[in-house]
Amino acid sequence: MGSKLLFSVWENWRRRRVLRKHKIPADLWALTIKQVRAASHLSVADRERLRNVASLFLHDKYIELAQGMELTNAMRVRIACEAAIPILNLDLEHYHAWHTVIVYPAQFVSHEEFRDGAGVVHRHRSVRAGEAWHRGPVVISWEDVIENEDANNVIIHEAAHKLDMLDGAMNGRPPIHRSMNQREWTAAFSEAYASHVADVDAGRRTEIDAYAAKNPAEFFAVTSEAFFEIPDVLKRVWPVVYMQLSLYYRQQTATM
Ligand SMILES: [Zn+2]
Repeated sequence: MGSKLLFSVWENWRRRRVLRKHKIPADLWALTIKQVRAASHLSVADRERLRNVASLFLHDKYIELAQGMELTNAMRVRIACEAAIPILNLDLEHYHAWHTVIVYPAQFVSHEEFRDGAGVVHRHRSVRAGEAWHRGPVVISWEDVIENEDANNVIIHEAAHKLDMLDGAMNGRPPIHRSMNQREWTAAFSEAYASHVADVDAGRRTEIDAYAAKNPAEFFAVTSEAFFEIPDVLKRVWPVVYMQLSLYYRQQTATM
């Protein structure tokens, strides 16, 4: 038996065992999923599969609190439910490179350091709703998880960055499936990104968050949020981007 096959036999056994003992209780799951708009496209059967993925996520990852916050079961399940949505049809293995979610009560200050081409070290302070560190945790603001009146979804945003980083580089190009076409992906994303940057630079109002114009990595994360939160808008604005994301996430989110 090949080692990959052996791993999957063992992993499937492990998952069944975890689900027998640690499945999210039905009543709490029912309450949670009602509040998660990004799950509204899912059928009853898909929601049940999502419950399994979310249960495994909760078992495999640590959720830590910053600033003395208290974490309830309802909060843990809400985080797991949203984190499970992008990988519902991709497999939990896509999150293998990270283990921890750190939850802040509200937006937090991030200290960023980078060295420019001339070797000068810059330090930035910025207020964030979330961030995903390379080979590190996902950090989110709880306030931004529950206040999703708009198209934003901080958990899906950071999860998309983690998927993007699977090939080592955060550049808006996650490793796509063999059945997909890299040239079509690149053409769809670079054209939409260029037109978005032009709109934002010209001060035009955009239907997709202007933050996506920051760089191609943010464009992928923001369009991923839109794919789950406002799929009909995304499909109308950039149908080819919607189509590539639909192939990538292996989900149909739009109603049209
Ligand atoms: Zn981002």
